[in-house]
Amino acid sequence: MMEGLAQANDLSEVIEADRAHMWHHLSQHKQYETVDPRIIVEGKGMRVWDAAGKEYLDAVSGGVWTVNVGYGRESIANAVRDQLIRMNYFAHSAGSIPASLFSKRLIEKMPGLSRVYYSNSGSEANEKVYKMVRQISHRHHGGRKNKILFRERDYHGTTITALATSGQPQRAEQYGPLTPGFVMVPHCLEYRKQWDVENYGERAADAIEEVILREGPDTIGALCLEPVTAGGGVIVPPAGYWERVQEICRKYEILLHIDEVVCGLGRTGTWFGYQNFGVKPDFVTMAKGVASGYAAISCTVTTEAVFEMFKDNPDDPMSYFRDISTFGGCTAGPVAALENMRIIEEEGLLENTLKMGARVIANLTALQEKHAVIGDVRGKGLFCGAELVADRATKEPMDERRVAAVVADVNAQGVIIGMTNRSLPGFNNTLCLSPALIATPDDIDQITDAIDRALTRVFG
Ligand code: PMP
Repeated sequence: MMEGLAQANDLSEVIEADRAHMWHHLSQHKQYETVDPRIIVEGKGMRVWDAAGKEYLDAVSGGVWTVNVGYGRESIANAVRDQLIRMNYFAHSAGSIPASLFSKRLIEKMPGLSRVYYSNSGSEANEKVYKMVRQISHRHHGGRKNKILFRERDYHGTTITALATSGQPQRAEQYGPLTPGFVMVPHCLEYRKQWDVENYGERAADAIEEVILREGPDTIGALCLEPVTAGGGVIVPPAGYWERVQEICRKYEILLHIDEVVCGLGRTGTWFGYQNFGVKPDFVTMAKGVASGYAAISCTVTTEAVFEMFKDNPDDPMSYFRDISTFGGCTAGPVAALENMRIIEEEGLLENTLKMGARVIANLTALQEKHAVIGDVRGKGLFCGAELVADRATKEPMDERRVAAVVADVNAQGVIIGMTNRSLPGFNNTLCLSPALIATPDDIDQITDAIDRALTRVFG
């Protein structure tokens, strides 16, 4: 490794250029006055190399649950190359070969849904839903059914409107005023119980109904949920939750939007996270794993019933969905997505995800016996978390700096793991593991062994 780009470029020039001109995401740049910015120059399978030549086992699929099929996939690069030479772009008021074919393949995996709208990021895909819901409200409910519910701890994106649906309030704190019309419902993390009841899942879903009744059911157009909450703490909803959520949505004619930006395309061991729970959504959005980061693509998928509402009156010039995403017309995304999906299928990566996910949970559960700071272990497929606590009995959250010290120690051992959002007090105490779906038993053991050593070093 370290042959291609790494050697071809003068890396000191790259680092200098980075320091002088880059503005990294989610970064306080003062740090780069004393340490070099991290520049990842090459990747293969589950491994990446930085500019200094250090090798890392990537346990977070590119940092944010994205590179589901791993690095260095020549077949994706070749498919994209061939497509770009043939036809790179045309606005999506016209179709393209890869967009049509990917839509068909995708819908085969999503019974009950039928239409795919393309854009470029998770935030954008979610905003398409909000716009569709608002337009339905205007056209079919006299503008009244326009509120959109979102859940505490969930995250749906970075734009001002997507931030209005962030259940992690500190993310939005300095960016107001936000878009109005979004209302928060309680989270469903049983480990941090809000109700002392036996059927926790049902109770947490009933809390949504309470908000609906408070706001007025005829004012609410949609409920937007992550199937398994990602950055808010790797939260798998308890048994009974999704069944009740579905019932409530049907009862009050509220459209159910599931944000699969993280879970989509295999992360939880099924094509989509919601398919673990037997739920039937009206909207599904996806982005990260759709093309595993080989191209920017996101999809907003909906039912024929929703689609029909936008073509019921062709004589009305305001009847269609008045939205465009310029780069939703790029062909690189859908052609990469087709090949990405083929790889997941042909290499049996859903099955591997289930097996390897079970191994992560088993290893973390064994570590829990040894390290009292692990309060809770949870996950679905290769989407796992270990919540660290200062005290197991009281569940007092672990100090963020000590969780960060664990992440840094694991990193120094050559393994990249994540932690839930650093800027969010009370949310920042969960170690996150989301390796590529190609992970082997040795990879998983290497990751959890590094965590074991780090916990011993940081907590004794
Ligand atoms: N939804 C969820 C569940 C996410 O985790 C994210 C990104 N972390 C988004 C939406 C936003 O995606 P993007 O950054 O591509 O806009």
